[in-house]
Amino acid sequence: MKLAPLLLSFFLSSPLLSANEILLPDMGDSTGTLISPAQEKALGASFFRSIQTQLEISNDPEVQHYIQSIGYHLVASSDSPSAPFHFFVVLADDINAFAGPGGFIGVNSGLILNSNNESELASVMAHEIAHVTQRHIYRSYEAASQLSLPAAAALIAAIVVATQAPDVGIGAISAVQAGSIQAQINFTRSNEQEADRVGIKTLAKAQFNPRSMPTFFEKLQQASRYYGSAAPEYLRTHPITSSRIADTRNRAESYPYRQVPDSQNYRLIKAKLRTYSAMSAQDLIAYFTNRLSLGTAEQKAAMQYGLALSYAKQERYQIAQGILKKLITSFPSQEQYLSASAHLSTLEGNTTEAKKAYALLEKRSPYNDQYKFSTVTLLIKDNQAQQALQRLKEIPYHRQNGPDYFLSLAKTYEKLSNPLNFHRYMAEYHYSVGQTHQAILQIKLAQKAKNNNFYLSAILEDRFNFFSNELLALKQLQE
Ligand SMILES: [Zn+2]
Repeated sequence: MKLAPLLLSFFLSSPLLSANEILLPDMGDSTGTLISPAQEKALGASFFRSIQTQLEISNDPEVQHYIQSIGYHLVASSDSPSAPFHFFVVLADDINAFAGPGGFIGVNSGLILNSNNESELASVMAHEIAHVTQRHIYRSYEAASQLSLPAAAALIAAIVVATQAPDVGIGAISAVQAGSIQAQINFTRSNEQEADRVGIKTLAKAQFNPRSMPTFFEKLQQASRYYGSAAPEYLRTHPITSSRIADTRNRAESYPYRQVPDSQNYRLIKAKLRTYSAMSAQDLIAYFTNRLSLGTAEQKAAMQYGLALSYAKQERYQIAQGILKKLITSFPSQEQYLSASAHLSTLEGNTTEAKKAYALLEKRSPYNDQYKFSTVTLLIKDNQAQQALQRLKEIPYHRQNGPDYFLSLAKTYEKLSNPLNFHRYMAEYHYSVGQTHQAILQIKLAQKAKNNNFYLSAILEDRFNFFSNELLALKQLQE
């Protein structure tokens, strides 16, 4: 088929993969495509680095943890339970969700805030997961097939961003290039039907309410009538027609009726995301105050939590801490209350209290590295950098990656007056969030630092070449 030679040229031109790293095509693949799992993984990672430079991705560990847990729960009930996926939240008020290469799925905070229950949120995520498992995303590989891997990933990212905010997304690449390819990436009507059909199956199997899919679609369609030509982007890339709603309703009604309660985590994340929205602290306080007496004890607690975070936004820490203390007493197993209180103690400069809280949280959730990073920040503040380094070394090797890890390590070495390692890990931090240019500058600074270690010099040289090649590949887009 036509796709194959194009894809091959795409990967042969990639400076990231040397000749012996290019895996032989799997000709038995039912889709007939030539992309290997390793190549798809590299493309996805590059796409995610690129998208971080253009959209505001939430780096709140609790938000990340929540969206990942819902996502993985759905994937486990999908047709490809072992496929790699990575879920993240984009801080943007409009209703949108999208799927990129390598199983990277973004959900806007606006979509989460506009969902009425957790099953509605899960229904959109199940639909996006189906686009990935049904390999609809391959159209975007084909579109970008003439480019090297980092350039292709940047282009796909630019297109995703362009569908979010038409005027800011294009960035460094030419509008014409993105525009001509966008048409090839938007999913076709049959793709949409298939994603609905497969998604609803996943939704039911994962114990969510399948009927929430047509309900949420209906709400989106009403919103689109209201907005007219300024309809939310999700509707333009995933058009919702009356027949689509009728189809999903018929399918949903073939499942037995099931009442699915929302998780408390869903309510708390929604309350937190609201405080990240464009609403002023004053409006937030009014919003949560008006809802303090509605619903169950858990629903009221979520509004109290939102209220505490809103006061914290105004730096009224004492009032906020007072509310949180009551929540901690009433719901001791809900970690978010203690974690919010620890965070506020840090902001207030009460490191003793903060350390105590994080120690408790670490003990409760030993696999949650975030509490460890928070402790490290406190240790650095207290001039205990050697101890901070020790804590970071306790993290298992396979989790020693990601922006939080590299930034913590860099700050620790800064405190230890070790400029070489400070700049070296700042470089890794910048690279992990898509700032390749800054990564190169940091490596150059590391190379200028005093160094008698041949092995380290070789590492720096290697990273310098790696980052430079990637930047060179990205220049392809500007030609
Ligand atoms: Zn879709």
